[in-house]
Amino acid sequence: MQTREIDFASKEGISWGTTSAFVVFHALAVVALFYTTWQAVVVAVVLHWICIGWGIGLGYHRLHTHRSYKTPKVVEYFFALCATMTLQGGPIFWTAMHRIHHQKSDQPGDPHTPRDGKWWSHMLWTIFGEELHGDTEVLGKYAPDLAKDRFYRVLTHWHWVPLVVLGLTLLAIGGLPWLLWGVFLRVVFGLHCTWLVNSATHLWGTRRFDTRDDSKNSLWVALLTFGEGWHNNHHAHPTSARHGMTWREIDLTWMQLRLMKWLGLAWDVQVPTASQIANKAVAAENAA
Ligand SMILES: [Zn+2]
Ligand SMILES: [Zn+2]
Repeated sequence: MQTREIDFASKEGISWGTTSAFVVFHALAVVALFYTTWQAVVVAVVLHWICIGWGIGLGYHRLHTHRSYKTPKVVEYFFALCATMTLQGGPIFWTAMHRIHHQKSDQPGDPHTPRDGKWWSHMLWTIFGEELHGDTEVLGKYAPDLAKDRFYRVLTHWHWVPLVVLGLTLLAIGGLPWLLWGVFLRVVFGLHCTWLVNSATHLWGTRRFDTRDDSKNSLWVALLTFGEGWHNNHHAHPTSARHGMTWREIDLTWMQLRLMKWLGLAWDVQVPTASQIANKAVAAENAA
């Protein structure tokens, strides 16, 4: 049962597979600009919504990692499938890394804290250290609930396959413009949006809650990520399905979750009570 200890904040060695993929994707994202058609732009926007909004926001983050609501298994699987098409790894990998981030936020062992450098927290952390994307045995220790499910193990091991299938489908239907915009440019844009949650919202913004990490609330990151920018709220109340805590804190993922609840597709939706919110709030005189 013993698995070896891994330092997820390790800066030893470069993962060449991940690095090459990111270089190729960034280069082709620039090429995409020369193949712009309005249909290709619409395809990219719709896929950004599905893969980042549903896949990462409603899926990997609020459901698979934090279990902030319940939904039918088929919806869980569907969101995980959407999320793999962001090139952020499979469900067991993503969940494990993010749970470690919450355990060790801005402390030694945090995979991506800006205390190790702005660029480290944004993207460099993804290419350094051991290549673990498909290692369900090591990662499963941090996400045992997902690791016991065969679908998640297979999807984590073969996480890049759905994106390849999507790419070939787009190429067949809409040619090069759809492939370049729907896969390469859209994936690069989505990666930077998610990475901003690790970098920008641990650097710049406001703090509503007194947490032991550097997390901040940021409207512009929230707008890019369907509500994930209310990161100080989230670190203070990690199991809350709602990250934007007032009507002014726009949280599209929360709005979609309310719609899912109304449709009977979500239940046991977790939100903090008024006293839990008051307990952790930064004292009024310090908030200014
Ligand atoms: Zn964080
Ligand atoms: Zn989280």
